[in-house]
Amino acid sequence: MIKDFEHFAPKTLKEALALLAKYGDDCKVICGGQSLLILMRQGLVDPKYIIDIKGISELNYIKDDKDGLKIGATTTHRAIEKSPVIRKKYPVLAEMETRLASIQTRNWGTIGGNVCHGDPAGDPVPVLIALNATLSMAGTKGTRSMPVENFCLDYFEIALEPGELLTEIKLPVPPPRTGTVYTKFNVIESDLATVSVAVSLTLGSGDGVCQNVRIALGAVAPTAIRAKKAEKVLKGKKITEALLTQAGEVAATETEPISDIYASEEYRLELVKVLVPRMTKEAMARAKKA
Ligand SMILES: Cc1cc2nc3c(=O)[nH]c(=O)nc-3n(C[C@H](O)[C@H](O)[C@H](O)COP(=O)(O)OP(=O)(O)OC[C@H]3O[C@@H](n4cnc5c(N)ncnc54)[C@H](O)[C@@H]3O)c2cc1C
Repeated sequence: MIKDFEHFAPKTLKEALALLAKYGDDCKVICGGQSLLILMRQGLVDPKYIIDIKGISELNYIKDDKDGLKIGATTTHRAIEKSPVIRKKYPVLAEMETRLASIQTRNWGTIGGNVCHGDPAGDPVPVLIALNATLSMAGTKGTRSMPVENFCLDYFEIALEPGELLTEIKLPVPPPRTGTVYTKFNVIESDLATVSVAVSLTLGSGDGVCQNVRIALGAVAPTAIRAKKAEKVLKGKKITEALLTQAGEVAATETEPISDIYASEEYRLELVKVLVPRMTKEAMARAKKA
């Protein structure tokens, strides 16, 4: 049962930040409520004041220019999935969204809310890590930004300071000959990942050598992680089946999976060993066509 709370619906970022500063630890930000309301219903979170940022239109946008893509924090999953520019230039983002929950949840849930929920099994963060995204935050003291891979600190813990809001997600323009792919293994379609893998791979011009690669894993550690040792196995080399197998095995050593109702620790490790080579191959095939 959700306890009574006072609800504010600011229309500007400035108003929202002032409310956050005023109510401090007694308040909680809500956007789509797809994650927060579950926690409130379970009695895990019990705010006296709710700052509802869903109506702040200045945070709801998808912009594409020569510097890359910018997505406002209150943009819904469904808007990202349907965006023509994202489908054309960052197709992996739209593909990821089609696997996230149901259309109903995607219609109301937001990318900013998802990232700030800090669930290690969430879909967007591994993809954003693979795409080398940067997050922007605003507070009454000013703005700052950080790579998305530094944002999640522990299970459901993120690097926002008190009084701050996530405002924007920025993606750089992918280098030429880059392919990015994402998959999640889950038991029930539209459910959270049992294990997820995102790979972004850039090929050298004409030589087929892996110039750069970013491998991100979800649901195998307290946060989504980058498998940097596995990336090292591949970077600067012509990719062979043996190297792919090695990358999968090395990636598994970088994880700390748990056993839960969906899968055992051992099963998750096996999934990493299988999915990392498979998705790297797919990223390479996409890079060849890019
Ligand atoms: C049935 C169901 C299935 C789901 N399946 C999936 C799935 O398959 N994959 C997946 O990844 N997720 C899934 N989810 C989770 C959910 O869809 C996402 O986490 C959702 O995107 C959260 O966004 P929201 O706007 O609803 O956030 P809210 O619930 O409003 O907020 C979530 C958290 O983020 C904070 N917050 C929100 N916006 C900001 C901001 N701009 N700045 C600072 N803090 C902020 C809130 O205070 C809260 O702590 C599912 C949820 C449901 C209900």
